[in-house]
Amino acid sequence: MFVTSLKGKKLVVLDGYTYSLSKKTEGGKKRWRCSTHHSKGCKANLYTIEDAIVLYDAVHNHHQSQYTRTLLNNLKPYFYNSLTGSRRLRLGQYSFRMQPPHRASQLKRRWLCATHSWQGCKALVITIDDEIVSERNEHNH
Ligand SMILES: [Zn+2]
Ligand SMILES: [Zn+2]
Repeated sequence: MFVTSLKGKKLVVLDGYTYSLSKKTEGGKKRWRCSTHHSKGCKANLYTIEDAIVLYDAVHNHHQSQYTRTLLNNLKPYFYNSLTGSRRLRLGQYSFRMQPPHRASQLKRRWLCATHSWQGCKALVITIDDEIVSERNEHNH
């Protein structure tokens, strides 16, 4: 997922962190590094080829910054595929994973918190035909 920062710079968003383009490229790959804490020693980085993330090391030495939180909260909801290929929905700073439908023909989809649903997070989104019809974007984390 690519977003534009408040200063107009292109950023990659992955799991609530943003990455900015570094000058170093390797082969056809572009290298991106933590946009908020690179200068403070954060080594998290990722590589893209033609706008797809191909490799990442998302271990940050800090929590999500307020700047990133604000940026992500202002994004419109969007659908994307996770690195493992499953369908996700992004709403503000949270990700939701799709529950398999009971019937393939069903248009209604339930989405649970992608990171904490098995730890009791009750956040839930319902979509019909990719339109959000109901959302409870309240998380316990
Ligand atoms: Zn970082
Ligand atoms: Zn949650």
